[in-house]
Amino acid sequence: MSVFESMAHYGYGEVHCVRDERVALRAIIAIHDTRLGPALGGCRFVPYANEDAAMTDALRLARGMSFKAALARLPHGGGKAVIMAPEGSYDRPALLRRFAKFIDELGGRYVSAEDAGTGLADMEIMRTETKHVVGLSPEHGGSGDPSPFTALGVRRGIEAYVELVLKRQSLAGLHVAVQGVGHVGYNLCRELHAAGARLTVSDVRDDLAAQAASAFGANQVPAAEIHRVPCDVYAPCALGGALNDRSVPQLQCKIVAGAANNQLASDDNGTALHARGILYAPDYAINAGGLINVAQEVAGYDADKARERTLHIYDTLLEIGDRSLRLGEPPHRVADAMVQEILAAAT
Ligand code: NAD
Repeated sequence: MSVFESMAHYGYGEVHCVRDERVALRAIIAIHDTRLGPALGGCRFVPYANEDAAMTDALRLARGMSFKAALARLPHGGGKAVIMAPEGSYDRPALLRRFAKFIDELGGRYVSAEDAGTGLADMEIMRTETKHVVGLSPEHGGSGDPSPFTALGVRRGIEAYVELVLKRQSLAGLHVAVQGVGHVGYNLCRELHAAGARLTVSDVRDDLAAQAASAFGANQVPAAEIHRVPCDVYAPCALGGALNDRSVPQLQCKIVAGAANNQLASDDNGTALHARGILYAPDYAINAGGLINVAQEVAGYDADKARERTLHIYDTLLEIGDRSLRLGEPPHRVADAMVQEILAAAT
């Protein structure tokens, strides 16, 4: 597809290409939508096979950010930057500073943050050239690690779905199977354990699973088995694609609600979950806590406000699940429709 065809496909928007050979910089900033406010989204710094791959990544990811920000009721649109990691040696700080100058020239239409291949130190370098960067360390007035907020939001989403499906006001005694106990998964286990849930955990790293099992009295199973553990809630918190042609028919739960991005390998897998009577929490709705936390930096960071906003993920999931059950529509389609309503109302 040409750039304009791709932009039409993803419903754009604005796309900026940045090149400065003096510092080996080649980058793309995709601004998907600004109807709700400045576009917010991370800056990826990874090798790409070619320019098309970089462009597709930027367009796809920025659109995803619009959806996530809209459902989280944030005053932001979706954006994403991708820097094509240069081959050979280069001066990384100089490249990042030049890139940040370009962000600054956009005058706040795009606000950047960490993503794959960038970290806190990079954000702090970029911050020397522009104020339109968030995700700084607490020592620099930033919001710090987003994963406890993401986990808090996932716990709230699970509570909403448990109320809808199991008619229970509490997680006490419920069985949750958590796939992946990294940053978010471990914090989610802490939240669920504190709420009285019984846990089964797995991770491709046995040491991490064993650590979570010991800290939260959880049962530990091999990574290949977690999705078929009989439980009330299955929480994918590892990589994308956990809900696929192989795993969906084997699930033995009533609810799927976890933090991982891009959980559905395909749209058909969302339809298959719905046909099996399993209520799926759309990933970009339930995992917005980290984004909510980092977005709070734009207005001056306040952890209490970030927490308060994250708690509202409960209301969003209640609405998605309720509409899905009433209309007989799969939740991932309901969530997409809600985004379109929110964006249209802002026009
Ligand atoms: P992480 O890398 O800290 O943790 C992921 C864990 O999953 C690792 O421990 C890894 O060993 C494990 N894992 C990988 N493949 C697995 C498999 N097949 N089975 C079991 N375990 C497996 O990452 P994270 O920050 O905790 O993020 C987890 C997911 O949530 C990712 O999909 C991420 O995109 C998404 N997410 C994270 C945040 C956040 O605040 N960090 C926000 C929104 C979404």
